[in-house]
Amino acid sequence: MIGIDSTICIYCKNHGFSKEHVAPFSLGGNCTIKCVCKDCNGKLSSVDQSLAENSPVALSKVGMTPTAAFGTQLGTIATMRDQRGFDLGVRIGNQMTVEVRPQIFLRGNQLSISCPDRQGIQKLVRYIDDQIRKGSLADVHQRITPDTIAPRFMMHRSDAAVVDAASSEEASKLLAVIEKNWPDVKTTLEKPDAGEVVKQATPSVLIKMVMKPNEEYRGVAKIALETTALLLGPEFVLRDTLDPIREYILGDVRLPVIDGDTPDQLAIDARFVERVPTENSFDFTDQHGVILFHEPQHGLAALVVLYGMHHYKVRLAPPMDRSSWVRHYEFSYTKDGHRELSELDFARRALERFPHLLKIDPGIATKMLEALKGETR
Ligand SMILES: [Zn+2]
Repeated sequence: MIGIDSTICIYCKNHGFSKEHVAPFSLGGNCTIKCVCKDCNGKLSSVDQSLAENSPVALSKVGMTPTAAFGTQLGTIATMRDQRGFDLGVRIGNQMTVEVRPQIFLRGNQLSISCPDRQGIQKLVRYIDDQIRKGSLADVHQRITPDTIAPRFMMHRSDAAVVDAASSEEASKLLAVIEKNWPDVKTTLEKPDAGEVVKQATPSVLIKMVMKPNEEYRGVAKIALETTALLLGPEFVLRDTLDPIREYILGDVRLPVIDGDTPDQLAIDARFVERVPTENSFDFTDQHGVILFHEPQHGLAALVVLYGMHHYKVRLAPPMDRSSWVRHYEFSYTKDGHRELSELDFARRALERFPHLLKIDPGIATKMLEALKGETR
């Protein structure tokens, strides 16, 4: 617990406090502040939840969180085995459902099949059997792919399938092979000991999840505002110039009017938060982190980094009477801790990771790092 206790809530400005996680607990955050009232804390928990479960961040959460990291179950591993006992381990998040799809691969004249379980194989057997009986196997959609990819038959739904092939001739050949070999393959698959027929293959996993971009952005803005309270104090955050972002986090989402010409555009309130393309981002941490900075022309802003790979810029407040400065705070997602990074830490990471962005010769960067090591001691 960082020593910033205030009985005034940084969201509703009423009295009251509770333990609030700066980086959401559901993303592994263990840094707490006390300047949020119980009501707001409860009301905003759905925003944290959406960031953790209904945004691209959820996929990183699923991939990055060791399930044994701490008591809270952030993800779980559904271990499925194919018929030969190969693990097809799939780690899933709380609200996600996964389906490991049966795969058929063609190697030479041999079909090899991988399924997460016996049922998957049976499903595939019935499906292909059906298609052959109906004489419709050759009618499956053919998708032409670069010729470096071997043709593959991908089962997609119970009523449709796709052949990925380099040419339509390749696809036709594959279909012919399936039809020709199918009775044998089927017999082998239906025997309890299928033996060598089923080979390990790269599983294709379908994950179903709901995205809530406006909630995701509010969740990111919340991390930025609470980190500001952590670093600059709750009194700072209570200033009137931060009222717009406060209202936004509390739910004042203003959706843009969608242009009729681009009906696919998502209605996202991007007044405060934008995603920064990874290649343009100055990524200083492999974990969660916030860089708080003030630009004389643009004002107070934060770069929020989640899992070292999702970068967001948050506009917190218009320019204020301050010179330029930068503060960096890092949160672990495995509950190892959290801390403010010193200028030396930051300089060291920048030199290690981005000598090219800094336009510094790698050899010189190494020398500078050596020098910094001396300073740290
Ligand atoms: Zn409140």
